[in-house]
Formats: sequence, structure tokens, C-alpha cells
Amino acid sequence: MKTVLITGASRGIGKALALAFGRAGYAVGVNYHKEKAKAEAVVQEIFEAGNKEGEVLACDVRDSIKVRQMMDAMLVRWGRLDVLVNNAGITRDRTILKMTNGEWNDVIDVNLSGVFWCVREAARLMSKEKHGSIINIASIMALRPGFGNANYSASKAGLIALTKAAAKELGRFHVTVNAVLPGFHETDMASELPAEHKKKLLEEHLTGQSTTIADLCRVVLELAQNASVSGQVFNVDSRIV
Ligand code: NAP
Repeated sequence: MKTVLITGASRGIGKALALAFGRAGYAVGVNYHKEKAKAEAVVQEIFEAGNKEGEVLACDVRDSIKVRQMMDAMLVRWGRLDVLVNNAGITRDRTILKMTNGEWNDVIDVNLSGVFWCVREAARLMSKEKHGSIINIASIMALRPGFGNANYSASKAGLIALTKAAAKELGRFHVTVNAVLPGFHETDMASELPAEHKKKLLEEHLTGQSTTIADLCRVVLELAQNASVSGQVFNVDSRIV
């Protein structure tokens, strides 16, 4: 049985990914930071769909020691790590003139440094096995920043560079690393946007509608199973960059 660890899988896109991987027969590590009950409910849902291999993994991805312990917990439970999806992410939107040091650092710490700690630990395990797939959930904002999210856009642009750098280094171990840019999805993160802003975002879609989370999950699952595509950025969207 193949295993996947998904960070930030208690809610939103991460939850949908955890359920999709569960349905596909993977053993799923469901990471969360604060929402333990929600993460437990995700594992319960995986069980109810007929897959008995799921586990809740508490870890603040900002803490590199806890990240190492989380990877070790995957090994203890299942003996292997086949796929890592770096999905955990936050926003702290504010214009540059008003942005505090804390708002800048929080976003970089979770969205970029947190991913780096996870990539480093996964690389430690996957390079030994000479096999593995890492998928980083970035954002269209990496390529086309919005107004008032310099911290978020910079973190996601850094994530694309990290994806390509990791892909270069890990290819020799047959470990693939790719980035996926989701479309606009009405998760808790998106609920913080003003209604007018959401309307404008939807108007930019060529199809008149946002892509679905199911479409996103299919792309991520395909990448998890594809051993030859690496160092690429996939825009799962109908907005033109
Ligand atoms: P969300 O609903 O706000 O969920 C965020 C998830 O990240 C939660 O599971 C949360 O855990 C976890 N998390 C936050 N800080 C963490 C930390 N320090 N350590 C570990 N986990 C942490 O967000 P979402 O909309 O699903 O977004 C998921 C990813 O997709 C993010 O990387 C985001 O940037 C990206 N994305 C989203 C959209 C969109 O339209 N929604 C578009 C493009 C890209 P707790 O529940 O335990 O707090």
C-alpha cells in the first residue's frame, strides 16, 4: 500500500486531497495544526469510505523538529513515505505600507520555510528508497500577485523556485517534485476576501466558473503516480497568467 502525507489536511483543499487519496487506496497521514477534531473527522471519513489506513498527525510545519517527528511517525506507522503534498498555507493580507513584521514573517514561515522543512525531511526518506513524489501547492499569486498580498505572493513565488531547485537535486534519486497552482476555491482562506473581490476573481475565468476541487485532486493524484514528470508548474485554472 502506498502512503501519502498531506499537510494542512483538516480543512479545505487539504481535506479534499486526503479524501481523494484515501479513495484511491493510499494510506493517508492527515496533518493539522490547530483543528484536531476536524482532522479526526477527515480520518473517520476515509474509514467510512472503506479504507482503514488513515492517521491524524499533529504538527506545526513552522517547527523543523516537529516536522522531522511527523515524518518519523509516518515511518513508524507504515514504514514508508511515497508521496508528500505540501498544502498547509495561510494568508495575512495587508498593503505593504501597513504590513507588520509579524504578518510578513508568519506567511513566509508557514508557506515557504514550513515547506522547506517538509521537503528536506521527505528527501531524507525518499532518497534512501530511490522513489517518491513531492507536490507543492502554490498559487497563481506567485506569477501574478494580487493587491495587498505581497507576503503571500512572495511566499508562493519562492515555493515555485524551491520546487524547481528540489526537483534538480532529487531527480538522481528518482524523486519527482512539482508545483500545482489551484484555481479559486471557497475555503476558509477564501472566505476572508471581500465579496466584490471574489466577484472580480470569478469574472477572470474564461469558462465563467472556477475549477472544481475534484479537478484539482485529479491532477495532484496523477502527479503522485507519475514517475517521469518533475520540476514543473501546473496551473489548474481557467485564468490566463
Ligand atoms: P484553509 O481552508 O485555510 O486551510 C488551511 C490548512 O492549513 C488547514 O488545514 C490548517 O490547519 C493548515 N495550517 C495552517 N497553518 C499551519 C501550520 N503552521 N502547520 C500545519 N498546518 C497548518 O486553506 P485552503 O484554501 O484549503 O488552502 C490550502 C492551500 O491551497 C494553501 O497552501 C493555499 O495557499 C493554497 N491555495 C488556495 C486557494 C483557494 O482559492 N482556496 C487558491 C490557491 C492556492 P488547522 O485547520 O489545524 O488550522
